[in-house]
Amino acid sequence: MKTKKFEKLGISPSLLGFGCMRFPLDENGNIDEVESEKMLDKAINAGVTYIDTAFPYHNGDSEPFVGKVLKKYNRKDLFLATKLPIWEISSKEDAKKIFLDQLERLGVDYVDFYLLHALDKEKWDKVIKYNILDLCQELKEEGKICYLGFSFHDEYPVFKEILEYHDWDFCQLQLNYMDMDIQAGMQGYLLTEKYNIPLIVMEPVKGGALALLPDDVTDKFKKYNFQASISSWALRYVASLSNVKVVLSGMSTYDQVIDNLNTFENFEYLNEDELALIQEVKDTLKSRTQNGCTGCSYCMPCPFGVDIPMNFKYWNNAYVYKEHEAFKEKLENMESKKKAKNCRQCGACEKMCPQQLSIREDLKQVCNYIDD
Ligand code: SF4
Ligand code: SF4
Repeated sequence: MKTKKFEKLGISPSLLGFGCMRFPLDENGNIDEVESEKMLDKAINAGVTYIDTAFPYHNGDSEPFVGKVLKKYNRKDLFLATKLPIWEISSKEDAKKIFLDQLERLGVDYVDFYLLHALDKEKWDKVIKYNILDLCQELKEEGKICYLGFSFHDEYPVFKEILEYHDWDFCQLQLNYMDMDIQAGMQGYLLTEKYNIPLIVMEPVKGGALALLPDDVTDKFKKYNFQASISSWALRYVASLSNVKVVLSGMSTYDQVIDNLNTFENFEYLNEDELALIQEVKDTLKSRTQNGCTGCSYCMPCPFGVDIPMNFKYWNNAYVYKEHEAFKEKLENMESKKKAKNCRQCGACEKMCPQQLSIREDLKQVCNYIDD
């Protein structure tokens, strides 16, 4: 199993991390414990040592389930990661209570990697307001947390502010070959490199979208290497970046575990031809977008409640991935006030858009697309 050294921390967890948020479910919608345990066992026995869970995964069932399975293994051989749900806390004491509860749910007396979960500007302000970093430092001194980091979902300036505020042990970003310019993106990656902060990547396969591509694009990959799975290209893309130390995959079938193990047991960095092929695929997919919305949200909030980036995201993805049914459904299931049809054509948003998009016209197109 491929490992990369976290130079800053002197440890070498497996490059493939097991994300515990998408376990298979039984007929009642609960974790299918038999199948999920089989998957975890297979991965751990093959050398996966980084196991990533969080307080809210599977409606709170992931932590206790993972804790139960890990009991079979030597605790010191594994790197267990979980996360503090900032949205649940209103004081430092709240945070401590949740952390101690997490130790109990996991059945452990320490956590290797502890993350402040899904930081954005609002949650970061709470972290500061309630002195959460002081609490985490105390827990580190007590040996209950080994390494402190954060996962992130906001724009680059917020990422920069957070990264520069504290001497983090590591951080976790969403990164994949289609989305190198959204959220913190490649700019964020380069900043972690500059400050020598080891990076863990989430959503390398874009929630599964890069595992199942349209036929013409799949053919390009298969022509180059028939044996390689489509998702292996996405995983190797991020894993080849030098400061990426762990790539998380939220595996939901046994076959996915086998496929991912195959990628990381025989791991090869992308060569120049392969990088060029991914660029070609990316260009092909991007050429199908209906507009160039980057999801930056500078146009928000709309005074009438329209979620402009969300509408454009679903509309674009429907064409890029040729998944019209699925994305039409997402557009139709959006909260009523956020739908494109609520645009009153006031034009306020267009003045704010760095891409100079014709937002009003494009929202009309979204409405026509849904009605088609
Ligand atoms: S033009 Fe439409 S989407 Fe833009 S701010 Fe006005 S109402 Fe909202
Ligand atoms: S419409 Fe423009 S401002 Fe709004 S999210 Fe998209 S790119 Fe950003």
